[in-house]
Amino acid sequence: MAGQHSVVQKRTTKRRRGSTESPAARADSVRVVIVDHPLAAVGLSVLRAKTTAPDLFRRHLQEISILLFTEASRRWTSKTIEVETPLASCAGAILEKPIVLVPILRAGLGMLDGILRIAPDASIGHIGLYRDPETLRPVSYYDRLPVNVAAANVILLDPMLATGHSACEAASMLKAQGAQSIQFLCVVACPPGVRQFHTEHPDISVVTAAIDPELNDHGYIVPGLGDAGDRYFGTG
Ligand code: URA
Repeated sequence: MAGQHSVVQKRTTKRRRGSTESPAARADSVRVVIVDHPLAAVGLSVLRAKTTAPDLFRRHLQEISILLFTEASRRWTSKTIEVETPLASCAGAILEKPIVLVPILRAGLGMLDGILRIAPDASIGHIGLYRDPETLRPVSYYDRLPVNVAAANVILLDPMLATGHSACEAASMLKAQGAQSIQFLCVVACPPGVRQFHTEHPDISVVTAAIDPELNDHGYIVPGLGDAGDRYFGTG
């Protein structure tokens, strides 16, 4: 996947003399990573299709989450250790920081099992938010985070970055409990959501499989994939 995602490529691109790219656009280019991988594109197409049944939706959401997580963890630092193979000793690696995965309830749970397959020793936190019908703002009804959140690489999970309000609130809750290194993983984002998120949390990168053009009046991403929670849990 290295260098194949359009936005991340800009990370290593030196600014040309006389470039008119605005500081905000430059900042955005390092904070949004679009995983431009054929397996992600195929999986996302299955997720988008309205005829996809929950069993297939679950499988593909988990698989695409593995690709997103692989990208998010690309620059994590590791320590060298010595490993004894059956034949000789050689250099091996362990991650420097523990991993904490934090799904935003409920749709974020759909991203968890896939990631746990390649990060089985990760700790798991949960954040539950509902939308206040009057203010339309997210309100926390549950949070339980591992004690090592301050020392960990923390991955916040929600398949859809729509208005950005839930993601913002969840990230603020993580920071309030000491998290220092946070990345946000979603399957589909949209420009208003990314803007809102980076207005409040410019230090947190967003790793996504797609950025769709718009939000409709009900806060759904268009074309999107519908209600990710309903489709994953079969409650639609
Ligand atoms: N949540 C979803 O599940 N889908 C959207 O399109 C927006 C928010």
